[in-house]
Amino acid sequence: MGAAAVSERTLVLIKPDAVQRGLVGEIISRYERKGLAIVAMDQRTIDASQSDAHYAEHVDKPFYPGLREFITSGPLVALVLEGDQAIDVVRQMNGATDSRTAAPGTIRGDLSLSKSENLVHASDSPDSAKRELAIWFPHLG
Ligand code: ADP
Ligand code: MG
Repeated sequence: MGAAAVSERTLVLIKPDAVQRGLVGEIISRYERKGLAIVAMDQRTIDASQSDAHYAEHVDKPFYPGLREFITSGPLVALVLEGDQAIDVVRQMNGATDSRTAAPGTIRGDLSLSKSENLVHASDSPDSAKRELAIWFPHLG
């Protein structure tokens, strides 16, 4: 098992449903209490082309038009989190994509009941973290 300490950065989005529901503080608090460092944080409203860039792997999927409508529907909060094995740690904290079956104790499992409006996004691998960080926070390098 990978017990060695590996400091990583990951891209997190607190999605428009979370902002609209007033859950930004609750969600950030979970990441902070876990021990992750906030390297950057910015509230933004994105347009369709930014959605297409971020969700490049999904643009041809049947659910994508709805996803694009949702992710562009209002402000979201983009974060760069850093810590030991942060990419996997944050994915675990967020829980399974479908909030209805996400485990209790996870953000989605505790706070959402939707497969599509599931509160958070996080990079799923070192390659996707690198790609997404370059899209959202190019100045960090
Ligand atoms: P994750 O966000 O857990 O990495 P995916 O990359 O598979 O999940 O999907 C990206 C986002 O698209 C999900 O977080 C969710 O908002 C939405 N989504 C995924 N699959 C579906 C689906 N079958 N129906 C509706 N929305 C979906
Ligand atoms: Mg994904």
